[in-house]
Amino acid sequence: MKPLFKLVRYLKREKFASFLAVFFSIVSVAATVVATMQLRTLTNVINDAAMRASDGADMATALDMGEITRLCVLLAGLYLASVFAAFMQSFLLTGVVQRVSYALRADICAKISRLPLAYFDVRSIGDTMSRVTNDVDTVAQSLSTALSTTVSSAVQLVLVAVIMFLTSWQMAVTSLVTVPLAAICAAVVMKFSDRHFVRQQATLGELNGKAEEAYSGLLVIKAFGRDARFEEAFCETNRRLQRAMYRANTISGLTQPLSNFLNKLGYVAVCVVGGILVAGRRADLGALAAFLIYINLFQQPISNLAQAVNVFQQASAAAVRVFEFLDAEEQPDESGKTARLVPERVQGRVEFCHVRFGYDPAKPVIRDFCARVEAGQKVAIVGQTGAGKTTLVNLLMRFYDADDGEIFMDGVPISSMPRENVRALFAMVLQDTWLFDGTLRENLIYTGNASEEELKVAIRAANLTHFVESLPQGLDTPLNGEELSAGQKQLITIARAMLSRAPVMILDEATSSVDTFTEQVIARAMDALTEGRTSFVIAHRLSTIRNADLILVLDHGDIVEQGTHDALLARGGAYARLYNSQFSAPLL
Ligand code: ADP
Ligand code: MG
Repeated sequence: MKPLFKLVRYLKREKFASFLAVFFSIVSVAATVVATMQLRTLTNVINDAAMRASDGADMATALDMGEITRLCVLLAGLYLASVFAAFMQSFLLTGVVQRVSYALRADICAKISRLPLAYFDVRSIGDTMSRVTNDVDTVAQSLSTALSTTVSSAVQLVLVAVIMFLTSWQMAVTSLVTVPLAAICAAVVMKFSDRHFVRQQATLGELNGKAEEAYSGLLVIKAFGRDARFEEAFCETNRRLQRAMYRANTISGLTQPLSNFLNKLGYVAVCVVGGILVAGRRADLGALAAFLIYINLFQQPISNLAQAVNVFQQASAAAVRVFEFLDAEEQPDESGKTARLVPERVQGRVEFCHVRFGYDPAKPVIRDFCARVEAGQKVAIVGQTGAGKTTLVNLLMRFYDADDGEIFMDGVPISSMPRENVRALFAMVLQDTWLFDGTLRENLIYTGNASEEELKVAIRAANLTHFVESLPQGLDTPLNGEELSAGQKQLITIARAMLSRAPVMILDEATSSVDTFTEQVIARAMDALTEGRTSFVIAHRLSTIRNADLILVLDHGDIVEQGTHDALLARGGAYARLYNSQFSAPLL
């Protein structure tokens, strides 16, 4: 139940609506109770007439039709008022709950951008998605049902109890005996099913993770014929979910019948006690008739509350997961960081000073990295797969922070600048291309604004002219309907980077899916575009980086060689071996 208290900070903003809802709930219950009191009068009026008729009077004249009509109209009015107030209450609460779940989703969305990337390294996207959708939904839905029943049930419970005592304390005491029994019963059952609800939500998240994996890896799964293996794993999780749901719901489903049973016992007891009282003329018949309705009005909220406990349980299990996410440790706060660099005025001098880093600090990927890049230089980083090239880019962009050492940009340590400011200095094209739902034009000018002329230049430079012409609506073609090859996607992201005016360019295997000819065309265009801009290029085909001002050869996160192409070839070391392996004739 504890995580539900965290929801209080969301409910606080809804004070006014919640207060009004409680007010209407009181009105609704009060109207029903008053109506029942009128029923007692009505019963007595008719009963009196019947008594007099049995004493010999004429039934038709004995009945006070005026009084009966008045009571009936009053009753109709009271019940109508009760229904209206109940509607208002649920209307207001629905609003409250919807606004709270909106706020929760908005906070989760904002939270995603404040979390360090490392958070997502160890969690499946599907599980996080499940928290945003399933868990918030469960919290919202259960809250809306549970809150409305809880409020009106509590009000009804108190009001009816008071009236019952006013009507007949003997009958009131009799029915009160069974109440604690029902409450204890609900609490015991709740304890048992609580952990199954927690397991249910966790397994649901796991299942989502698996589903997400299946969709994003559909081709690989099929290509390797792993359908059966995957299906098996999915079924296993699915079975566990079914079991958890089954247990949670069967156990909690016991609450209702159990409290129903206890309620029926109470009903019988009141009938007996009431009957004796009426027979002994210590209570009127109207009181007994009204009491049989009161007892329903009294038991109803108790079983409603027991049910609400159930629902609160589910909400609680889901809330745990929502708040686990919302309370996860965030990237360190950077509001105190005052160093700023204006992108337009950055020269592009980059210096790495004894940088050490490991995704897991115990397993360093970069050990002691030092390098100095002058403004406007083209730097190539080469090395085997897994050497740490992308890691360097991650550090440069501050996707991750170095464990030790510092990176300077124009002499300013990037750790003293807010992350957004650091990232604004770079335009980058990654191994993994990313296009969003939108037209080609929107995808190209993602990072700012560009004139038609600039767009044309970039499209030509990225060798995309033919592609754009082949599209039905040219630049305004929505991309989600187009089947794009990996290479075409890379070209689009390259054009996008070209259009950004960032002072430093990063290309991480940006042309890996493009044919050799196009790669050469792009390399030349890039060189022209990055004229005067510092650029980092990671490429496997070394022919494209021959003209780099500085080549860093990386091995296991350490620079093993650095210099220009000619100097490194002349040295005959690691670079020369790598280069020659690409250009020498294959061994026959
Ligand atoms: P590359 O030179 O091929 O770009 P990377 O910089 O991507 O190499 O990877 C360097 C090392 O860091 C590899 O051993 C890789 O397994 C590890 N690594 C890369 N990304 C992560 C990550 N997000 N979490 C943990 N380890 C990672
Ligand atoms: Mg890489």
